[in-house]
Amino acid sequence: MRNTTHKLFYDKKLRHLHDDCNICGAVKNHFVALCMRYFRRYGKGLSYKKMSAHLTKLKKLPKYRHWNIPYSWSLQNVLKRLSQSFKEMKTLGRGHPQFKSCKKHKGMTYNGTQAPIKMVLDKQKNERNHPTYKIRLNGRWYLFALHRPIEGDIKRVQVHRDALGDFYITLTEDYSEIKYEPKTGKAEGFDFGIKDFLTGSDGHREASPMFYKQNSDKLKSAQQAHSGKVKGSNNRERERKNVARIHKKTANQRADHHWKLAIKLCRKFDIMFFEDLNLRGMKALFGKQVSDLAFGEFMRKLKHQSHKRIRAVLKINRWTPTSKSCCVCGHENQNLSLSDREWTCPSCNTHLDRDHNAALNILKEGVASYRLGVVRPIVLFNRVVGYSVEATSPLLNSTNASV
Ligand SMILES: [Zn+2]
Repeated sequence: MRNTTHKLFYDKKLRHLHDDCNICGAVKNHFVALCMRYFRRYGKGLSYKKMSAHLTKLKKLPKYRHWNIPYSWSLQNVLKRLSQSFKEMKTLGRGHPQFKSCKKHKGMTYNGTQAPIKMVLDKQKNERNHPTYKIRLNGRWYLFALHRPIEGDIKRVQVHRDALGDFYITLTEDYSEIKYEPKTGKAEGFDFGIKDFLTGSDGHREASPMFYKQNSDKLKSAQQAHSGKVKGSNNRERERKNVARIHKKTANQRADHHWKLAIKLCRKFDIMFFEDLNLRGMKALFGKQVSDLAFGEFMRKLKHQSHKRIRAVLKINRWTPTSKSCCVCGHENQNLSLSDREWTCPSCNTHLDRDHNAALNILKEGVASYRLGVVRPIVLFNRVVGYSVEATSPLLNSTNASV
């Protein structure tokens, strides 16, 4: 499966998509209320089958006649997702599906298999970088620029909108994209940190540009301008869009940085080891810096790229003491505090850098737990330079991969 996202060209017709999205939100709110009532009484959510039968009944009433306007499959998809989230839930705690303003409902889904999606090449009036296609959604044609050629059958089309009122479509194709990269025979452990985003076991460091922090001054003035305007006025709406635009820019910058870094690492290394982090706990400790780095988002992108380029991203056990134990002799230093960037091992007298030591430990633990080979430390002048991995596994192609 491959997903590609394209932006729909601005058109007055987009208001129909906005209306459809609003109705999807209203349907969701209606059924959230219904499910919650049912859950309190019977301890479980309504099944999809019951909800969809109920929806069909409601649609016939004059009060809900406008619910017939959106494509029926997208309303059913809302119910499918809702029943799934109630199924996975145990109690009505903080995690139950919430009521949300209809205007904030993000999007809807069109199925391509039941009713094939119509998509044709538009007349190319002007020279463009990408061919302009038009797609038929709920009885109307919408234009967009196709920036990736379509390779397989389109299984599904998802339409979503952002806070600026722009519409995007995501085409899901029945096609798995593979890009072959030459094997490098290298394995690497990575330590994630606040100061340096990633520290590799070869001593390489990747800093993060901290985009939220960069844009925070602009965001602050935009938010102040927003809060000063009269509620419900056109001025306030304009300022709301300004705030949304800054948030969108930050997210785009971060995503771009993450994709580039992920591709770079996949080209360099065959196997990458990471620590399984407790991100919620870290957020409580370090605050919004962790959210700015968006480590979980980065891992998701790295996994996608490693799958595409046939690389392995492996996680080691969360409870392995990586920063507190010495990577040469395994001595555990219990007195190590968060502010100690460098320390000397009392048992073997090795001078260690905190992040580098952790990265080396992650590599060692990873190679041992996945049985990939033998690891030996390279020590020069009483300082660990690196680790040599003698591979016994077919995952690492070459016989001796020094890291
Ligand atoms: Zn030691």
